[in-house]
Amino acid sequence: MRGRIILLGPPGAGKGTQAKWLVEKTGLLHLSTGDLLRDEVAQGTELGKNARAFMDRGDLVPDDVIVEMIRGRIADAEGFILDGFPRTVAQAEALARITDVDAVVYIALDREQVIVRLTSRRVCRDCGRITNVLSDETASDGTCRTCQGELYQRDDDCREVIENRFDVYMSATAPLISHYRDAGILNEVDGNRPPDAVLAEILAVVEGA
Ligand code: AMP
Repeated sequence: MRGRIILLGPPGAGKGTQAKWLVEKTGLLHLSTGDLLRDEVAQGTELGKNARAFMDRGDLVPDDVIVEMIRGRIADAEGFILDGFPRTVAQAEALARITDVDAVVYIALDREQVIVRLTSRRVCRDCGRITNVLSDETASDGTCRTCQGELYQRDDDCREVIENRFDVYMSATAPLISHYRDAGILNEVDGNRPPDAVLAEILAVVEGA
């Protein structure tokens, strides 16, 4: 399946979860700049060392670093689901010089919902599944329901950093909503619903793209 899709929305809106399910349904390539950066940090690369301070504070890594990290991966792909990129108008303009985009899905969630979701979010160290101690009873004992791996809390999922990430989202990333609405490719989805209902709506957009 072809399709060049951007998932846009605040941290905690469900972009990563939805992207993983969309990959299973569509076979498209999932590109998460947050995941790529966390891999660079884990491997101790120069890029990772430079990015880490920004990430720990919840600030954005500079645009040129991000664009260079993702350029080749996008340019070579038939279709993709971008998760967490672009996050600034400058990144969107750089992306437009690399490729066209078919559809942008904006998953809307307000500040209080973001804080509740991210303070209770957990990620499996083994399979990468994203879960939540509020909605998943088995998560509270620290074990992944799918693979029995260890669940952990991301370093930047603490209240102070979450609040900064939301403020950064509002000032740097939210302008992309009108940017892509003006381009005629924005599709808004209410993120404050059961994840499978959100998925069904996103799939309809992706299949029509
Ligand atoms: P995420 O996993 O998307 O929440 O990203 C985690 C952190 O990585 C963010 O808080 C930023 O510090 C950094 N990051 C991820 N994607 C980008 C991007 N497109 N531009 C700048 N910084 C990013």
